[in-house]
Amino acid sequence: MARVYNFSAGPAALPEAVLKQAQEEMLDWRGSGMSVMEMSHRGKEFMSIAQQAEADLRELMAIPDNYKVLFLQGGATSQFAMVPLNLIGRTGKADYMNTGSWSKKAIAEARRYGDVKVIADTYVDDSFTSEPAAGSLAISADAAYVHYTPNETIEGVEFSYIPETGDVPLVADMSSTILSRPLAVSRFGIIYAGAQKNIGPAGLTITIVREDLIGNAMDHAPTMFKYETHAGADSMYNTPPTYGWYLAGLVFQWLKAQGGLAGMAAINERKAKALYGAIDDSGFYNNPVDRNCRSWMNVPFTLADPDLDARFLSEAAEAGLKTLKGHRSVGGMRASIYNAMPEDGVKALIDFMAEFERNNG
Ligand SMILES: *Cc1c(COP(=O)(O)O)cnc(C)c1O
Repeated sequence: MARVYNFSAGPAALPEAVLKQAQEEMLDWRGSGMSVMEMSHRGKEFMSIAQQAEADLRELMAIPDNYKVLFLQGGATSQFAMVPLNLIGRTGKADYMNTGSWSKKAIAEARRYGDVKVIADTYVDDSFTSEPAAGSLAISADAAYVHYTPNETIEGVEFSYIPETGDVPLVADMSSTILSRPLAVSRFGIIYAGAQKNIGPAGLTITIVREDLIGNAMDHAPTMFKYETHAGADSMYNTPPTYGWYLAGLVFQWLKAQGGLAGMAAINERKAKALYGAIDDSGFYNNPVDRNCRSWMNVPFTLADPDLDARFLSEAAEAGLKTLKGHRSVGGMRASIYNAMPEDGVKALIDFMAEFERNNG
């Protein structure tokens, strides 16, 4: 068996130790005689898995008691609708920041439900390469909430600060940055993330909601799209994505063993610094993002000659470095280096890049 270094943006690499544990427990979860996939979500075995996963996530992120943690389906994309359906009704208005491809989609969806004001827009010359200046944000007093995307997965732009929104709840799509470093959860009204980048397998979506924001959904919102439905049933109103929930729980335990989010942050910072350093020190590779807001998780870069892209990708794949092709909207390469990407993987990529430059630069 030869496992590669997988730089996919999502679904992304999982920690090998987690996959091995899941493999060991696949046929018989701890003497239950069943796979987790075969268990009733309401049975005591799965209930213990579910509760342990939530407890570990709460501990890792230091989630205050007045927040609910929901284990949902539908991906971050469903949250693009669920957030306005549950929150915008209070005033009919919401503020959004447009800082990349995912913000853009969130904005388009929210416009179906209310009056959306774009209070920051970093789209310049066909691309997003910067963050809005903290002082430039004019939050509308009558906004029901402010929405932003702390890490834009496609462009590789990550906010260097948490926006100050006063009494207006702040909503964050953290799909590609959740759990990458410690976070002051109390600064947010809602945090949501699809699991397939930094949590676990695709099919699970985690939403962390401040309790006072639950219970205000529009009357016509589908039952499954109301936070109150899930909050009132411990995320078991219907059958939850049980296996994804279990695997996420294994990832949370793995994260605790890495020193929690402070430990992860130190590793992630080292990985990102090494890769950006290699890019900036070469005359051959380029990353277009402002240095103060470069993502720790998604690192897009281009080659001096785009005609070499195909050769770069095929030689990288031969060297065991897979899924480096950039998003079609940005071009070039993208190395996603989430929590599960070991430092050795980043080092292998840097060494390969240097060699490719020597041979082709
Ligand atoms: C991947 C991603 C999404 C889309 O997630 P789905 O789970 O596929 O709906 C949304 N926002 C961000 C920031 C992402 O990285």
